[in-house]
Amino acid sequence: MSGVSEFEQRVAELIEAGRTLYRLGMVPATSGNLSARLTDGCLAITVSGRHKGRLTADDIMLIDAAGHSLDGRRPSAETGLHLQIYRRFPDAGAVLHPHSVNATLLSRGRRAPLVLTDYELLKAFPGVDTHAFALTVPVFANCQDIPALAAEVDDWMMRHQGPVHGYLIGGHGFYTWGATVDDALRHVEAFEFLFDCELRTGGMSRL
Ligand SMILES: [Zn+2]
Repeated sequence: MSGVSEFEQRVAELIEAGRTLYRLGMVPATSGNLSARLTDGCLAITVSGRHKGRLTADDIMLIDAAGHSLDGRRPSAETGLHLQIYRRFPDAGAVLHPHSVNATLLSRGRRAPLVLTDYELLKAFPGVDTHAFALTVPVFANCQDIPALAAEVDDWMMRHQGPVHGYLIGGHGFYTWGATVDDALRHVEAFEFLFDCELRTGGMSRL
């Protein structure tokens, strides 16, 4: 036995993920938030307003499955969006929310869902084994009312036929998730690459 608790392991992974996302320029100026689910359903999540490139164990707190703080600190302002994903996807073990330039530009002023197809990298997502797959990425209007936004996201997911691995928020960033922090990071990298391709090939003109 290493003596390291499950919470401490997830904290270490989230710290490392924050550094990776910051190196990639995807969580500037204290933006973004990161979380991981423990086997008892509680979440390790970044404390509101912390710099994701310089996280320490003190910057990651524990909340219960309903979002209540278990240590008196205030979790990320967007905690409700993390909770919606964990409720909707029982297999989700980590949720990452970057504010990348590509996601921000691609989603700004856009309402039509993005449909990604004919990209080899689509195979980075679970259940996708061909470039011909069409992956829909919905775009939601940015909103400071997180419960309302979470309800809108959940409603879309409930009605959508087919897999969903992430969504964009207009002029803001994107959310993606995975079974582990590593899986979620792989999805961040894949989405970022695909968003970059879409922007460069005139994705904006297809609004
Ligand atoms: Zn955000």
